[in-house]
Amino acid sequence: MKPFDRFVVVDWSARSAPSPATPSADAIWIANHADGETKTSYWRTRSEAAGHLAELLESALANNERTLAGFDFPFGYPRGFAQTITGEEAALPVWAWLARQIEDTATNSNNRFVVAAEMNARFPGIGPFWGRPKTLDVAGLPDKGSARDNHGLPEKRGVEALVPRAQACWKLYTTGSVGSQMLLGLPYLHALRETFGKSLSVWPFEAPDAPIVLAEIYPSLLSASVDAVLRADTTAIKDEVQVRLLARALGRLPKSDLTRAFAAATEAAEHEEGWILGVGIEEALNRTALPETAAPQLKNDCFALPPGVDWVPVEDALVRLREGLSPVVTTEGVAVTDAEGRYLAATQTARRAHPPKANSAVDGYGFAHASIGDGHIVLPLAAQAAAAGRAVKAVPHGHAIRILTGAALPKGVDTVVLEEDTRIAEGHVVFGGPVKPGANTRAAGEDLVEGATAITKGARLRPPDLAMLTSVGIGEVEVFTKLRVGVLSTGDELIEPTSAPGDHGIYDANRPMLLSLVRRWGHFGTDLGISADRREVVRTVLDAASKANDAILTSGGASAGDEDHVSALLRTEGTVATWRIAMKPGRPLLLGFWNDVPVFGLPGNPVAAFVCALIFARPALSVLAGGPWTEPQGYTLRAAFSKRKKAGRREYLRARVGQDGSVEAFKSEGSGRISGISWADGLVELEDGTRDITPGDPVRYIPFASFGL
Ligand code: AMP
Ligand code: MG
Repeated sequence: MKPFDRFVVVDWSARSAPSPATPSADAIWIANHADGETKTSYWRTRSEAAGHLAELLESALANNERTLAGFDFPFGYPRGFAQTITGEEAALPVWAWLARQIEDTATNSNNRFVVAAEMNARFPGIGPFWGRPKTLDVAGLPDKGSARDNHGLPEKRGVEALVPRAQACWKLYTTGSVGSQMLLGLPYLHALRETFGKSLSVWPFEAPDAPIVLAEIYPSLLSASVDAVLRADTTAIKDEVQVRLLARALGRLPKSDLTRAFAAATEAAEHEEGWILGVGIEEALNRTALPETAAPQLKNDCFALPPGVDWVPVEDALVRLREGLSPVVTTEGVAVTDAEGRYLAATQTARRAHPPKANSAVDGYGFAHASIGDGHIVLPLAAQAAAAGRAVKAVPHGHAIRILTGAALPKGVDTVVLEEDTRIAEGHVVFGGPVKPGANTRAAGEDLVEGATAITKGARLRPPDLAMLTSVGIGEVEVFTKLRVGVLSTGDELIEPTSAPGDHGIYDANRPMLLSLVRRWGHFGTDLGISADRREVVRTVLDAASKANDAILTSGGASAGDEDHVSALLRTEGTVATWRIAMKPGRPLLLGFWNDVPVFGLPGNPVAAFVCALIFARPALSVLAGGPWTEPQGYTLRAAFSKRKKAGRREYLRARVGQDGSVEAFKSEGSGRISGISWADGLVELEDGTRDITPGDPVRYIPFASFGL
């Protein structure tokens, strides 16, 4: 079927006189969203608004557009009402009945209280309708809800259990008198049905497949987004904002979410009660309601250290970093099959239970437990077998059916005996009891019930997560756009590995290492090359890089002393804080901004650059990318080495787990020894206090895998 082209949202009004000439809250607002644009209009009377709507739908139809039109009042009454009024348990005949009874003039004066009293008279006791102006005394219409008695109807419809703050449709007067809006709205909708005939369907009583579909909506589903707009613009009129945001949200909703919203209505809703379109997809609606905003930015002073702080313990540095950072990415939808390694932008809940139905956990024979005894059991076998995905008739009491793993338990089956424990003889299955009730079966939803959280926002999706999402019916997810990270090496001495071995200079070892780390962490790594230690060169590179990246990692030139280095440039022309971290290896860490893009200046020494990247850059980039602040999982192992350690700083040793499960340290602590980080499969973390390690002592070992390697 063709998707909708146009989305109309109407905020109806039950006023008894025309609304003020100046646009105000107590009036009819209509939003009309098509081609990415949303317009709203203000109407002082119902008859004018209805005329406008009919024209709008007519011209959409003439242009071969499909329109979804939402109205903010219930389309049906609680169960039991329709039968008494029309003799049918259906909502649409009630519409026709009301259309005959309600008189509504061009200036909004109407007879709704009288009609409500007439309807009340058809029910026993007092009610269900209530509420009227004090001055208007209509017999049979109580002015207080509490005065009602014994009318026998439920107060609310089924859907209202899911939107507890929605008002009941019996209330006709004062705040949120939804009841009056219905009485004065349904006759106009009935007229639209007559005008458009087969070109119009009313959901959920009819399938939402006509060129024009009418549906009930509830603007409060968007209250989070509406409140955000109202906070930013205090002159805005709430009703206008509500219809505008809702029309836009419906218009921008992924098709799968809209389908889900249409599928949510219960059977009672489809007959007489009606259902609110959008219940169950509130998160998706709120996500699409607001206009695309530019990616959020960090505060430029978020890395500043308090005055007087000299050496920062690792723990404090991590806390400061964590507090200063927040995501700088936007979101996009991707198929679950393409979502591995991405950071989830919205918590995903199960669209269907897993398993959807009670089923067999084994290959065997199924029967009703109540039909067997404890001893030797012989049951006649049904001709059919139950297999996954195959519909099977009910199994008669006292019979068994062959059933395969994963097959839904047919009616009449609640217990399964394992095939290996049975024997087949002359069309019967024979086995020994007792068998526990429910043996070898799995309950519906025992893995995850419908609506339960499958994966939470911020999680980085791993292969099992893709299985989890798919098993509960999720085929597409909203993820954060990939964080773009530029990687730059700085130093006059650095050369490319393509240079001849005889050349002077140091091969740039940091760049391939850092780029690979960044990519393993799920980001989009960009190679910014090597910059000489000259201000103009570094400035030019940073200018270009800050336009195309969300974060920049540099290595080298981080020392404060040298005037031509990255630190000096950031200090004079950007923002920078130099953190002297009490850790080995690692010299100062630069944290700054260049054109609003965060720059992480790692030490040049490759061992220190590597360790600082794991300890500081990894959690920081994760947060910028929309993920969690990551804390590496460590394990306590016995040391296979000796070490004398000074107090007042944290040390990371290149380490490796030996055959016997104890942890060895690299033979040299020389910070230039790249062979050590390549030899290692993890780090030993020695806390800040003083401590001498002797073989056999427990130490904290963090495998590289814990850092996402
Ligand atoms: P710096 O922080 O610039 O003073 O550099 C500290 C040490 O690390 C110096 O010996 C540099 O030559 C070395 N170094 C800096 N950057 C790199 C790199 N990308 N690859 C290998 N060694 C480097
Ligand atoms: Mg250097």
